[in-house]
Amino acid sequence: NFQVLTIGDAMITMNPVTTGPLRYVTHFERKLGGAELNFAIGCARLGLNAKWVSRLGKDEFGRVIYNFAKGEGVDVSEVEFVENHPTSVNFKEISESGAGKTFYYRHHSPILTLKPSDIHDDILSGVSLVHITGVFLAIDDVNFSIAERILQLAKSKGIPVSFDPNIRLKLWTIEEARETYKKIFPYVNILLTGLDEIRLITGFDSTVDLEKFAKNYEINSLVIKDGEKGSKVYQDGKWTEAKAFKVRAIDTVGAGDGFDAGFVYGYLHNYSLEETLQFANGVGALVTTVSGDNEGLPYLEEVNAFIHNENIVER
Ligand code: ATP
Repeated sequence: NFQVLTIGDAMITMNPVTTGPLRYVTHFERKLGGAELNFAIGCARLGLNAKWVSRLGKDEFGRVIYNFAKGEGVDVSEVEFVENHPTSVNFKEISESGAGKTFYYRHHSPILTLKPSDIHDDILSGVSLVHITGVFLAIDDVNFSIAERILQLAKSKGIPVSFDPNIRLKLWTIEEARETYKKIFPYVNILLTGLDEIRLITGFDSTVDLEKFAKNYEINSLVIKDGEKGSKVYQDGKWTEAKAFKVRAIDTVGAGDGFDAGFVYGYLHNYSLEETLQFANGVGALVTTVSGDNEGLPYLEEVNAFIHNENIVER
């Protein structure tokens, strides 16, 4: 059984029960999210052993997240509770038209207590792949040093690295993001990004320029997610594409994290590129059919049944 490791902050998400300006909303549904935790849950549901490195506040919400992650089968042996840093929270606002906004309360996030020295030498023992996202990097400057320590360890052990820039312009500027990504890319084997995102990061628009970018940083697989159009990958000097599945999408948040988990699963199991993209598209599509950032992440048999168009006997 393959083990993957990821690192990042998780949050309580308060979803409004009614639409309209947040200041008038009085009822919320409590959920939880965080790109890396979503990824870890996605991997665990597919049957991978997913280790999530994090810090949570020593408070009620910290317990909620810890118990949820543990219940999902995520390895929480590198998660600690810390004092004086309340677990992060965000509130969503849904306008009458359906557009969403997020208000973050994560200024003293517990993950800020994590130090490079917490990344001990044997943290990667048994690990087959490391997954880093740009959200972790955006939260605090020191997180680059933490990520760098993990990436150097991975490099010295020959462990492949996947990276999702997951750009969040509410957390840093495009210039800051670009500077940091430039230092991360040389370590990356699999870059999992959105089409608009990679254009924003590199400033490149044409396929040829994106190919040059991948070659320049020696990125083996440049994977581009494109929502309801599907996904493609540039690897071994050629592009391979897979169409998205047709679904009734009701909440697209978390589709990208689920796709990442699916891609990593296919990669580790030596699927062909076509199969890997199809599998990852299947996971992404299924995530969009359920409301919530991680509730829709499918189990292995569900993705397989979905992509092969088989029915699961429900009763
Ligand atoms: P986010 O970070 O907001 O989750 P992303 O840009 O990383 O998004 P998307 O491209 O939105 O990721 O979605 C990832 C994958 O999920 C897509 O490549 C596609 O396979 C699948 N997917 C997303 N939206 C849809 C949809 N409406 N219908 C079918 N499949 C979808």
